[in-house]
Amino acid sequence: MRVLSVASEIFPLIKTGGLADVVGALPAAVAPLGIEMRCLVPGYPAVMRAIGDAEILHRDADFFGGEMRILAARAHGIDVFVLDVPHLYERPGSPYSAADGKDWADNAQRFAALALAGARIGRGLLPGFVPDIVHAHDWQAGLVPAYLHYDEASSSGPRSVFTVHNLAFQGQFDKALLAEIGLPPRAFAIDGVEYYGTIGYLKAALQLADRVTTVSPTYALEIRTSEAGMGLEGLLRARGDAVSGILNGIDTQVWNPATDELITARYDARQLVARMRNKSALQQRMDLTVDPRIPLFGVVSRLSWQKGLDLLAEALPTLAGIGQLALLGAGDKLLEEKYTAAAQTHAGRIGCVLGYDEEVAHMIQAGADVLLVPSRFEPCGLTQLCALRYGAVPLVARVGGLNDTVIDASEMALNSGVATGIAFAPVTTPMLEAALSRAAMLYEDRASWMRLQLNGMRTDVSWEQPAKRYAALYRELAASRS
Ligand code: ADP
Repeated sequence: MRVLSVASEIFPLIKTGGLADVVGALPAAVAPLGIEMRCLVPGYPAVMRAIGDAEILHRDADFFGGEMRILAARAHGIDVFVLDVPHLYERPGSPYSAADGKDWADNAQRFAALALAGARIGRGLLPGFVPDIVHAHDWQAGLVPAYLHYDEASSSGPRSVFTVHNLAFQGQFDKALLAEIGLPPRAFAIDGVEYYGTIGYLKAALQLADRVTTVSPTYALEIRTSEAGMGLEGLLRARGDAVSGILNGIDTQVWNPATDELITARYDARQLVARMRNKSALQQRMDLTVDPRIPLFGVVSRLSWQKGLDLLAEALPTLAGIGQLALLGAGDKLLEEKYTAAAQTHAGRIGCVLGYDEEVAHMIQAGADVLLVPSRFEPCGLTQLCALRYGAVPLVARVGGLNDTVIDASEMALNSGVATGIAFAPVTTPMLEAALSRAAMLYEDRASWMRLQLNGMRTDVSWEQPAKRYAALYRELAASRS
């Protein structure tokens, strides 16, 4: 069984969020189940630097107005196909925007190109790798099912799976671009790529993929409602059973407190005391008062409205009264300023590192007592999975994948010994404050707290179960191929 995955990010080559982690981890996770998965990614500068020597599998002198090559390469232990189109991808800045934060003006073409190349590989462009399934991720690869659907050259072809990692990013573009991106006029229809008068890349995928998955069962339900469907709830409801949720896992080799080179003291469930050294190392790194008794809350996150970090900013006086905060994050400038100011107002109690930093992310997971994820919505969330594995008790909003992965320390769950964290709803500042106080109270009872930590560390957060679900989906679809 062969699967081509098509995505704009793959860890560790290029990453702006959890999408990259998932795309990077899936090939190795499904390999033991007899599935050969290769990923097609754009040749961003970071990707081209990472791959070094590559084999040229295909060339086209005029692809979206410039030269294109498809390369096969191996980098960091992952086999990838790289779509090398310098006039589209060889530029500084992020994959989606220039240094000034504005989206690249030709994003419609850049990601149509990615999807078209993916669809062509799906149709057999590379004789050495003809996939049974094409698995596209997020709006950047959203046109893959559309190109497959409107290609009349052959009726048989691969089946398509589309995974939504975040419904908030939809990729909407001017309908005047339809011909330029190579779609026929009939594609611009309500049962095609048309979306409120524009071309919707995400909408196209939700409409035309054989199967749609999202990254947790709860999010798969939530997005069928107007509260979380972001305008796509009607379509998602109409797709019925074709839409399902499969939880993400994390790479348990990268995230392993027993072998982690980025933390001060390695530990496991049998010697949890060693964890205390990581707490004092984190307190030092964040300019916090070094004291093992103060409950230490951690955050590793994009700073954005989705993540509810404006609510946490409002709750800082309460938090500083009961514990400490170690925050790592980047994004919204206003939030960055708020946390920087709070670190000055509450010196010794609140610390922050602004930016993207793998080492500090590991230090927080290994040293914080509690990991906060107060998201307004969360398709899956990965940081709470890392927290479970590292014995940092997750305190989460009861939404999306957070709801599926953390068992709240209710009286009943505590008594039956299954609790792994603290969950709160609705997602408001007062409820967050109440949850912070509840965490601080639980922390006082050392024996129960350790029970929470150990339950979390025993939770299976690996890719083993999710990989089985993806494999079952691929096999079921492949069996239905015409
Ligand atoms: P999202 O994809 O919405 O940003 P997820 O929780 O699914 O959120 O994935 C976020 C990933 O990015 C996790 O692996 C997390 O550790 C990492 N991450 C987020 N912010 C930072 C940061 N500032 N520094 C290092 N890693 C970060």
